[in-house]
Amino acid sequence: MPAVTENHSERIVTVLLGEQSYDIIIGSDVISSAGGRLRDWMEKRCGGAVSRGTCLIVTDANVSRHADAIASVLEAAGWRCERYEIEPGETSKRLEVVSAGWDRLVEMQADRQTVVVAVGGGVVGDAAGFIAAAFARGVPFVQIPTTLLADVDSSVGGKVGINHPRAKNLIGAFHQPIGVLIDLRMLETLPDREYRAGLAEVVKYGMILDAAFFEYLERNVTEINCRDPQTVTYLISRSCELKSQVVEEDEFETTGLRAILNFGHTFAHAFEALSGYESLLHGEAVSVGMVYACRLAEYCGRTDATLTARLVSLLEALHLPVNVSEPGRWNAKEILGRMQLDKKTVQGTLRFVLPNRLGEMELVKGVPEELVLKALQTGGIE
Ligand code: NAD
Repeated sequence: MPAVTENHSERIVTVLLGEQSYDIIIGSDVISSAGGRLRDWMEKRCGGAVSRGTCLIVTDANVSRHADAIASVLEAAGWRCERYEIEPGETSKRLEVVSAGWDRLVEMQADRQTVVVAVGGGVVGDAAGFIAAAFARGVPFVQIPTTLLADVDSSVGGKVGINHPRAKNLIGAFHQPIGVLIDLRMLETLPDREYRAGLAEVVKYGMILDAAFFEYLERNVTEINCRDPQTVTYLISRSCELKSQVVEEDEFETTGLRAILNFGHTFAHAFEALSGYESLLHGEAVSVGMVYACRLAEYCGRTDATLTARLVSLLEALHLPVNVSEPGRWNAKEILGRMQLDKKTVQGTLRFVLPNRLGEMELVKGVPEELVLKALQTGGIE
């Protein structure tokens, strides 16, 4: 179980992974101490003093204001900072972008005392993490997430990587950060649509692991929708705890436990790939994907319609989509084809994370194609 500690202004979730253990620090002003924290984390990881202290800040143009502030704090603490700015958006999770990041590290003469610092959403975190994972067989990296989705999901757990043109997140590695700094002030500039997309992953944790958390979300829709700071802090810290718990038990996704984090994602990844990773945000695709997966569970005789109705009602209250917006655009067979490429498919056999009940999931193998087609068709896809 992750250790959780609290002081007057911060909540710290410690992900326990032996020598790879790290802290997720959540608060409303954690950035001001970033310089010292980075040094502590690096010294712990390098097993001694960090003499030079250089970092490559990977970020995107939409968060340059936050990256500037972080660079100032780090430089004031003696770090030499270089910046690599990528284009905002999912299309940056591609090899050319990552390769240019390696070029920057070569130019900097980076070594194991260099730290890659990701300042941005899940796209920046995934790409920066992969840059760090493969350079010199792995240099340290720190996550400073700036979207709710990255706070609650992508910054924790060490999955890093890029997309293949035909399948999402197909190229990547497991590379744990040496620390995660979640500063709630970063969310002040986050557009509403992006905030809501992050809420889809929060709902996911309730669905897969914690019925009481799901009920908390149902009871606190108003506070969530108006971004009440106390409520948002709780959403983030509880989500980080739940994700860390799973990662600690199945870091490399070998037992099947970690796969439950992908609830709704087999559908979502197919929708995202078919939409060219552009018209549908990842969190929105997950929102729709969870509904389809819940329906599929019904058709497999695992749950009844009540659970799907409850999920739909919470997602709608949070202004999240529960259906693909242009169902006529894709056909069900095409979506099935995309699913065959999903990483959770083993030798062409479709596997889905399906609920048994609220808060409990199972990775189900050999789901009949006709039931998947039926779930898609109920959602209006022909
Ligand atoms: P994103 O990184 O594309 O960010 C969304 C948009 O918001 C971008 O345009 C970005 O520039 C902008 N933005 C970010 N922070 C902002 C801020 N504070 N103010 C204003 N604008 C801001 O998307 P995301 O939703 O954060 O992440 C989605 C990605 O995360 C997907 O690629 C998904 O595959 C990945 N992901 C990875 C994991 C993992 O475990 N590695 C888990 C979940 C999702």
